[in-house]
Amino acid sequence: MSPLNDPRTLFPTVDPPEQTQPEPGLDRNLQPPADLGMDSYVGHERLVGRRALITGGDSGIGAAAAIAYAREGADVAIAYLPEEQPDADVILKAIGDAGRRGIGIPVDLSTLEGCRKVVADTVEALGGLDILVNNASRQIWHDGIENLPDEDFDLTMRTNVYAAYRVTKEALPHLQPGSSIIFTSSVQAYDPSETLIDYGITKAAMNHLSKSLAMELTPKGIRVNAVAPGPFWTPLQPSHGQPMEKVTSFGQASPLGRAGHPAELAGAYVYLASDEASYTSGSTLSVTGGRPTP
Ligand code: NAD
Ligand code: MG
Repeated sequence: MSPLNDPRTLFPTVDPPEQTQPEPGLDRNLQPPADLGMDSYVGHERLVGRRALITGGDSGIGAAAAIAYAREGADVAIAYLPEEQPDADVILKAIGDAGRRGIGIPVDLSTLEGCRKVVADTVEALGGLDILVNNASRQIWHDGIENLPDEDFDLTMRTNVYAAYRVTKEALPHLQPGSSIIFTSSVQAYDPSETLIDYGITKAAMNHLSKSLAMELTPKGIRVNAVAPGPFWTPLQPSHGQPMEKVTSFGQASPLGRAGHPAELAGAYVYLASDEASYTSGSTLSVTGGRPTP
């Protein structure tokens, strides 16, 4: 009997029926459900006693990271929009079940006040902050630049770029040597879709922001990195994130032949937050199902 697991079949193929959810979408309404690692992630005490803030930690990739961080021993604050409370409750329960403190912060991060509040609430509730994951984003597809309204472009920049800059700036006075900042980029930063002009710009910005901040903060003992996912099955996609034909064939053109499940990204976020990555800063870790990135 081979001890190997074939990555093509280790997680179920996602073959979604037609579906649409209002933005921002809920994990609980995804068909088929996404695997967040709830039944599989096993911690190894890599983050014991650390305090993490994960924006967009209610669902998808951020939720998988939140579950993993708690099982690695961290207390975890998650931020999300108020309408996402049902998803957040599931993740907060998982954090509690791991024996750690889970803090839910419903907040609109497209505003400066929201960005200030999320850091202040985290530090007050957890007594400090050691790991910041800038992961919240909006992704709304448009049929070319002529159909991309100025208001949409502006809101995408504020939600994805301004918030990452603002939350990081607010968090910085609380971070000590040994802390880790992680941004969620995307394969869209290198391989853009014509339907995601505004979104793709914001993901390229995450790569740049993480690298310039790494230049500033690594000499102070704070590591800064990014994760660049390929196609992962999350509520971002069927809540106007993709045209319907791309939702129903989601991820199937990737070299592994299937979309990724958020559980398959948890290890990347754990690695970059932990001492295992002590010499890793200024890098982007691509998790793309085989699609090459620069
Ligand atoms: P998701 O919908 O589960 O997570 C995105 C989260 O962003 C939402 O849960 C929401 O809480 C948060 N958010 C959006 N607007 C907000 C606002 N105004 N205020 C506060 N929070 C807000 O989807 P996901 O795919 O897990 O996305 C997580 C990250 O992964 C995003 O940065 C996304 O760009 C990135 N990403 C996803 C994929 C993919 O295929 N799913 C691929 C590459 C990168
Ligand atoms: Mg969500």
